[in-house]
Amino acid sequence: LLILLTCVSTILIWLLSYYMAGRAMIPIQWSFDKQKKFVSDASHELRTPLSIFYSSLDILELEESHNLSPLGKDLIADLKDEADLMKELMDNLLFLARHDQLQKPMHQEVIPLSIMLKKISIKFQKIMPSEIQFRTQIEDNIELLGDATKIQELLYILLDNAISYTRNGSISLTLSIDHHIVKIVVADSGIGIPENDLSLVFERFYRSDMARQRNGTGLGLAIARAIVEQHGGKICVTSKIGKGSAFTIEFPVHKR
Ligand code: ADP
Repeated sequence: LLILLTCVSTILIWLLSYYMAGRAMIPIQWSFDKQKKFVSDASHELRTPLSIFYSSLDILELEESHNLSPLGKDLIADLKDEADLMKELMDNLLFLARHDQLQKPMHQEVIPLSIMLKKISIKFQKIMPSEIQFRTQIEDNIELLGDATKIQELLYILLDNAISYTRNGSISLTLSIDHHIVKIVVADSGIGIPENDLSLVFERFYRSDMARQRNGTGLGLAIARAIVEQHGGKICVTSKIGKGSAFTIEFPVHKR
């Protein structure tokens, strides 16, 4: 049963990372719309085998745990980790597929952005590696109309990336308001992005050669851009190899 589950997991991972990347099986001449539809359909279809996979693992763990060797238990734990990764990947793909169809945030509320960013920076201060200096400059009383969970996800993506691509340096998070534009900047003094790649980093599944030895799916910035667009904003990046990168987000100001 374990061998079978391992095979199913490998096939699912293969399907997700290659078919959906549009690099292996999707004919090159397909239009972008056809590729998007394929990714959307495939991610919906893969939900059922993935939930069967989860339930089988649970049954195996509950009913067979006393018969399993330590190796069997380890393998189950590994399969669960892989299944969680697949679920995250599929959730991300479904979010992007929905974004292609619907341009507005799903949920709207007045977000106390200054307070939110201060809370996020306290969390990140705690997990920041000791060799990275984390600075914040957050203007008070700034609000935004939108989906608080998604805005939080957006900041997590940018700050996670800043940490992943910075060794011994600094990261800063700033929030300001100017001429009715709310501006968030996440900047780092990390490895930087090659000039030729700057226009590609927001594309789905894009990962620069320099990033390949690190974990990641190449979906983070595509999701970040989708979230920003759903809130009527824009995101851009400036970067220099070896000097660092700065991601700037601009949102229209929320007037009461
Ligand atoms: P992931 O980080 O999972 O690879 P992302 O979509 O978040 O995917 O980022 C896409 C690519 O953009 C990364 O693989 C990396 O090459 C580059 N990148 C993103 N953020 C940074 C950063 N702060 N510094 C350097 N490169 C970055």
